[in-house]
Amino acid sequence: KLFAVAIRALEEIPLSKEEIVYLLTLEEGEERRLLFKLANAFRHDYMGDMVFIKGVIEFSNYCRKNCAYCGIRASNKVHRYRMSPDEIISVAINMAKLGVDTIILQSGEDPYYDLETLEHIVSTIRSTTYVPVSLSIGELPKPAYLKLKHAGASKVLLKHETINKKIFEAVHPDDDYDERIDLLDYIVSLGYVGGSGNIIGLPGQVIEDIADDILFMKRIGVKMIGLGPFVPAEGTPLQKFPHGDPELTLNTYAAIRLTMPRVFMPATTALGTIDEKKQFEAFNAGCNVIMCNFTPEKYRKDYMIYTGKAKVEFFQTAKRLKEMGFKLSVKILRELEKHEKEVMDRC
Ligand code: SAM
Ligand code: SF4
Repeated sequence: KLFAVAIRALEEIPLSKEEIVYLLTLEEGEERRLLFKLANAFRHDYMGDMVFIKGVIEFSNYCRKNCAYCGIRASNKVHRYRMSPDEIISVAINMAKLGVDTIILQSGEDPYYDLETLEHIVSTIRSTTYVPVSLSIGELPKPAYLKLKHAGASKVLLKHETINKKIFEAVHPDDDYDERIDLLDYIVSLGYVGGSGNIIGLPGQVIEDIADDILFMKRIGVKMIGLGPFVPAEGTPLQKFPHGDPELTLNTYAAIRLTMPRVFMPATTALGTIDEKKQFEAFNAGCNVIMCNFTPEKYRKDYMIYTGKAKVEFFQTAKRLKEMGFKLSVKILRELEKHEKEVMDRC
């Protein structure tokens, strides 16, 4: 059966829901090993061997929403922080010097940063560093996306989280399911490199829901897919629920690579938080992106969207990917070499 699915995927014939479910349910064994090999070959043939290292600045953990799974939801009692525009810009400039592929600005939904402030941050980063800027700041009013595009943002990450309407509504007391989908469509239509994604292992979710997530993302034409397992966060309504299955997460990456061979797909921090090794195994299951954390140390501990959130450190990550045989940009390789020399000199 895997052979038949592989042939259809190679011919770029859309896989059916039943075929995707089959890929998602493959368990430890020869067939699953072949699925990962196939996903890896697709990644290699369509996207090359380059792993894209993006950098994320989590600039505010204030949020006006109450997503049931999230550790920084409005009603959770956590220490709150906001970075000033100058602080954000200065971190972004340092990230650019290291050669990150994209600067991701991430936060809770925090209206403190009005449109003018966001435009200032984006346009300054863009005109100083020339590095693509990605927004991961929740839902904005439609006109804001146009203005921020003019200010220089080129990518937006807004996950649909789950395409199962019942589950979406159960975990998103402040969001409207149809509006989220409409907004994603709008973002893609503006010419942004649009990103979506889903959480694996939300309470009540079944395998068929994940197949529907994949088909939905293919339909709206996103170019980036950020999906990871649910990780319980202290103080939230879902704190007692088990984390999502890392093995199913790997199967999902592989199924996505066969369904949408040209997407940029990070091996996510959520997966690394459950099992650090699995985050790197994901690069042999179809992933080709990783997000390194550049949030200043004094703030990072307060951006706990889930308990025990791992830190994905830039140099360690670059070194490991290089040792795994992946290609990195010349600039990153040069910075890595410089860093390693400095460490040796200090010794
Ligand atoms: N506020 C913005 C938003 O919701 O799009 C951006 C920041 S939010 C923390 C980024 C992503 O974190 C969400 O899209 C969600 O999928 C993920 N997330 C939050 N809590 C999580 C949890 N407990 N387990 C797994 N992923 C989680
Ligand atoms: Fe806020 Fe985003 Fe967390 Fe929802 S997922 S509570 S919007 S930070």
